[in-house]
Amino acid sequence: MESGQVDLSDASVLVTGGAGFIGSHLAEYLVDRGAAVTVLDDLSAGDRRNLDAVADAVEFVEGDVRDRETVSTATAGQDLVFHLAANAHVPTSVEEPRHDFEVNATGTQAVLKAGVDADVDRIVLASSAAVYGPPQSVPIAESHPLDPVSPYGASKLAAEKLGFAYGETYDIDVSALRIFNTYGPRQPRYVMYDFFRKLEADPSELAMLGSGEQVRTFVYVSDTVAALVALGTHPDAVGRPFNVGGTEPTSIRELAELMAERFYDGEPNVRATGDPKAGDIERLVTDNSRIRELGVEPTVPLETGLDRLYEWFVDTEV
Ligand code: NAD
Repeated sequence: MESGQVDLSDASVLVTGGAGFIGSHLAEYLVDRGAAVTVLDDLSAGDRRNLDAVADAVEFVEGDVRDRETVSTATAGQDLVFHLAANAHVPTSVEEPRHDFEVNATGTQAVLKAGVDADVDRIVLASSAAVYGPPQSVPIAESHPLDPVSPYGASKLAAEKLGFAYGETYDIDVSALRIFNTYGPRQPRYVMYDFFRKLEADPSELAMLGSGEQVRTFVYVSDTVAALVALGTHPDAVGRPFNVGGTEPTSIRELAELMAERFYDGEPNVRATGDPKAGDIERLVTDNSRIRELGVEPTVPLETGLDRLYEWFVDTEV
């Protein structure tokens, strides 16, 4: 995917959460485009090894987005901020809702405040499809009602709304990307990782949690990165949220069968554990129409993305 209007070669860019899954891919992309990149991450979920390929080019700051001094120092002199640091794990938000809110919402306020003080050109917030809550209709466009059910979805919505309020009040450019299920190398959790682990342990059987009928639009991480970059650079990206998700609605059963056939010989017996998981959403399908207007179109086919994920999986001990 090419947005066609990205020139980052003179830019100083801060990526919070840049040692994490999506953030490290974004940092690599930005370095590749010639940007001067600083990463701020507390390594609570991320890993410095995720930045190995760009270690020499990235200034790494180990710190917490809740620590205002650290955030303000890291933000000074930046042109562009991509704010990805967050508790990105829904179950953690259920177990520790206060922590989730403090990192995701209050931490975002610290980043916004620092961005205003440093007079940065733009702040891009990593929001989430979780802000919608259970879909009332699919595909989900940005106009869909916002009724998150998890503390995570609520903290992400608070962060996003705060961002746009800062944009209105303090005259700073803010945009937000509502990211749907993103996958790829360096993501040591979620359904694909879980399936690879199970198949490695026993290639003859694969148990899916829930019914297996849940449908998702998985989007490969480079497509999510391209969407973030478009939000950071396109003139029409400011002041409103954008979805990004994959273009091939795929059920968990279809995913399981595809992975089993593609990567493991023994024709595994794919079975559902039965009951849907509590709170699990049946159909989470993205409407990408708005981001398409910025020239962004997810292009990586599921098979290609899975091949890259598998390569990483077998090469890495996580
Ligand atoms: P991740 O956990 O790999 O990345 C988050 C990073 O933030 C980690 O490196 C972690 O160490 C860091 N972090 C956490 N708390 C911090 C703190 N207090 N101070 C500084 N750093 C902190 O998750 P990810 O999947 O790469 O998600 C990146 C962003 O995208 C998050 O904001 C997440 O909510 C959002 N998102 C991701 C998806 C997805 O499918 N992966 C979907 C929707 C939204």
